[in-house]
Amino acid sequence: MTVRADVAELLRAGYGDRTIGRRLNVTAASVTAARQELGLPPARGGNKPAGSVEDLFWRRTKPVDGGHLEWTGHRTNKGVGTTKWQGTIYTAGRIAYRIRYGEDPAGHTHAPCGHDGCVAPAHIADSKVVPRQGRPGTGRRANADRDQIVALLRDGLTDDAIRRQLRVDAKRVAVIRREEGIGRAPRPVRTFAEKWAANTEPAAGGHVAWTGRRRDGNTPSLVYRDREYSARRAAFIEHYGRDPQGLVLPGCGWEPCVRPDHLEDRAIRQTLTTQLEAIFSGAAA
Ligand SMILES: [Zn+2]
Ligand SMILES: [Zn+2]
Repeated sequence: MTVRADVAELLRAGYGDRTIGRRLNVTAASVTAARQELGLPPARGGNKPAGSVEDLFWRRTKPVDGGHLEWTGHRTNKGVGTTKWQGTIYTAGRIAYRIRYGEDPAGHTHAPCGHDGCVAPAHIADSKVVPRQGRPGTGRRANADRDQIVALLRDGLTDDAIRRQLRVDAKRVAVIRREEGIGRAPRPVRTFAEKWAANTEPAAGGHVAWTGRRRDGNTPSLVYRDREYSARRAAFIEHYGRDPQGLVLPGCGWEPCVRPDHLEDRAIRQTLTTQLEAIFSGAAA
């Protein structure tokens, strides 16, 4: 049998089998087997004094299905789990919050996961950040599953877009974004160059052919500046840095060409015509 490193660590630290089982979400029997495997003596009867309030917390909780954690310790007459540590009374939710976030919550703690009285550190929330809602199932989708929020975050939606779509508190979205390490930067919009590369291919003679969408089955087109655009117009603007005058057409003689530096607008055509006229008039002189 291979003993899990985390189990071995806690066994060597002197914790009891049941405590280790609860803390690591494994059965006490498997911890006992690991203890024998490692040749460690049974934990001394009675409780090893907890090393911290977090230790106390783990000793007084029980994992249940769904990743929730139930409090098995003392409860106030209002049902709030509490424990005493070095003369101070802590609520279980507050300890859970500290385990998760490393700081005290600004408001009360509660568990938006919907499991009554859950104190799983991963599920605990600060009422100042995630407003406490009515009982589960009483209407608003204010507590959209974390997974849903994470999925939309990964899709690159802004906090505000997620707030609107799932009708959740934007601050909660921001907190989850931070926890998941998903950057605030909006989804990288494909650059024009990327769109261009995805919709064109080189053609013989140094020309470029359009492989993308065509408006009305004819005009190469793409979304540019947030609206439908002629691909040639868009390419012209990108290439010349100005809006074209009149129609943008390939000046290279290959009618389907979209290569940016083969494109001409009226101004370019007129300039070329003027130059040609000058050359020919000069030649004629
Ligand atoms: Zn829970
Ligand atoms: Zn061309």
